[in-house]
Amino acid sequence: MKDETRVAQAGLHSDDQYGSVSAPIYQTATFRHPGTGQSTGFDYTRTDNPTRRQLEREVAALEHGADATAYGSGMAALTSVMLLFKSGDTLLLSEDLYGGTWRLVEQVFGPLGLKGKYVDTADLAAVEAAVDPSVKGLLVETPSNPGMRISDLRALSALARRHGLVCIADNTFLSPLRQKPLDLGADLVVHSGTKYLAGHNDTLCGLVVAREPELAARVRTLQNSFGGTLGPLECWLVLRGLKTLAVRLDRQEDNAQRLAAWLAAHPAVKAVHYPGLPGHPGKAVHNSQATGPGAMISFRTHSGPAALKLIDGLKVISYAESLGGVESLITYPLTQTHAALPEALRLSTGVTGDLLRFSVGIEAFEDLRDDLEQALRGL
Ligand code: PLP
Repeated sequence: MKDETRVAQAGLHSDDQYGSVSAPIYQTATFRHPGTGQSTGFDYTRTDNPTRRQLEREVAALEHGADATAYGSGMAALTSVMLLFKSGDTLLLSEDLYGGTWRLVEQVFGPLGLKGKYVDTADLAAVEAAVDPSVKGLLVETPSNPGMRISDLRALSALARRHGLVCIADNTFLSPLRQKPLDLGADLVVHSGTKYLAGHNDTLCGLVVAREPELAARVRTLQNSFGGTLGPLECWLVLRGLKTLAVRLDRQEDNAQRLAAWLAAHPAVKAVHYPGLPGHPGKAVHNSQATGPGAMISFRTHSGPAALKLIDGLKVISYAESLGGVESLITYPLTQTHAALPEALRLSTGVTGDLLRFSVGIEAFEDLRDDLEQALRGL
């Protein structure tokens, strides 16, 4: 079955009793047992819930994984992954990554003994050089957030296998409809399902998908043990969002292609970072591992004040912190998504005052272009 069909029918066959087309919402904390020593298959919602299980099945199938686990947010999903490591371990991470992931590693797991080491994962030699006996995992974002840098998932997965590391890909920016890291050799995929999977900026969600059943079982035990699971109603919202993922993404990507080209030709724009543009560094690698450039763009104005003026001038595009939804959003990474990063890391990854991150929505291209045009006027 093609992904487009699978997402359109997400949850369709989950109700054998009444044939409900929309997946039922099992809004219950616990399940009545038929008798002692008996179970319906579900005992307690933190452990398992039919609505959550349906969402997990759909996302596992889309990512070509053995199993998936759903959480209350992307950060809870990442927490579950971090819990696979122990004190004394080192985790290599893309240096250009979501600021919240940096904060989780440094401020939550750091004091517990896990060390984060940040490398340019687009540079294979740099990753190879960073491996030492304490390194047990590698977490990659490609395209990266917000620099849109491209890392070679096949090569990094092979490197991870050679050194016995767990290879984790944060696939939030592209979704499984554009990139399937497990097929390229990664062990785990993480999503902020808040973004493209849910798609409507109305719910938080996180997912972890494992390629192999053994690792999937370990993650499921962690999910049940630390308990940051996604509630049944939110699971249903994500299932409903998933149904339109293919058409949303097609439209968002089409808008993004046209807007990236338009921005690149605008005199008030200094640079545009988008894998759909000719000359984007790593474009060949991106095209070898993804089926499209996605709908995330970052771009630079000529100065920090110009970027802030642009934000204040927007009328159609919202200035807000998130991505992947139907509404176009512009984010200012310096003070929003990447505010937690130390200055040195921010500077080395280009998170400076002139940088804007643009999540392109499904609105009419002309309205988005005209909004940017009027906001860029006079900068
Ligand atoms: N990973 C990436 C790439 C993100 O952009 C985000 C959030 O913006 C997260 C993880 C965290 O997800 P959430 O906000 O759902 O906790």
